[in-house]
Amino acid sequence: MSISKNLQNILENIPEHVQLVAVSKTRTVEEIMEAYRAGQRHFGESKAQELTPKAEKLPDDIQWHMVGHLQSNKVKYVAPFVDLIHSVDKHKLLKVINKEGRKNNRTVPVLLQLHIAEESTKFGMDFEETCALLESESYSEMEFVKVRGLMGMATFTDDTAQIRREFRQLKKNFDHIKEKYFSGDPSFDTLSMGMSDDYVPGIEEGSNMVRIGTAIFGKRN
Ligand SMILES: *Cc1c(COP(=O)(O)O)cnc(C)c1O
Repeated sequence: MSISKNLQNILENIPEHVQLVAVSKTRTVEEIMEAYRAGQRHFGESKAQELTPKAEKLPDDIQWHMVGHLQSNKVKYVAPFVDLIHSVDKHKLLKVINKEGRKNNRTVPVLLQLHIAEESTKFGMDFEETCALLESESYSEMEFVKVRGLMGMATFTDDTAQIRREFRQLKKNFDHIKEKYFSGDPSFDTLSMGMSDDYVPGIEEGSNMVRIGTAIFGKRN
């Protein structure tokens, strides 16, 4: 199957209110251009040092998403242009993003990553940590970040009931945080959950942004 056919199949399967982010990590500029020519504009990368050179070579109207774990010392590479950072998993990281946003005089849109999986290998904050961040004085003084929503990754398992449980929990957290800290702020509107193997349950449990790599570009090496 070609990249454009794969894209078409996925787009037919997801409702219009769900944003598809094509995760292009490890893919060549040519492969990304094939998806671009098929109409795809949102792309996601998981490493700053891969994202920056790709963004330089590819068309300007691509919206770039940083979906993978981001180290504080790499923020400076993506802060000037990135359209959404999905993976804010520490208060300290958000502070650094704010600082780099100020240097570039731009507000950087971000999602807070919550840890929902049973696996300990996945990054993210728990619910209490997230509330503490949003209630902190340092957060209230951050003028160069905009929290647009939440992101989470389910456990890597065949147990779909478990995946659904984890996604459902994240959606609950999303609703709770929206009501408590962002009521009257319609721009807190993004729930990024679901990848190639679990985007269908992700959407059914309330996701409106899915991050899909393998199902578009094929298996990674
Ligand atoms: C790689 C990656 C994806 C895409 O995974 P696929 O299984 O290839 O769809 C989504 N989100 C994050 C954070 C990733 O690192």
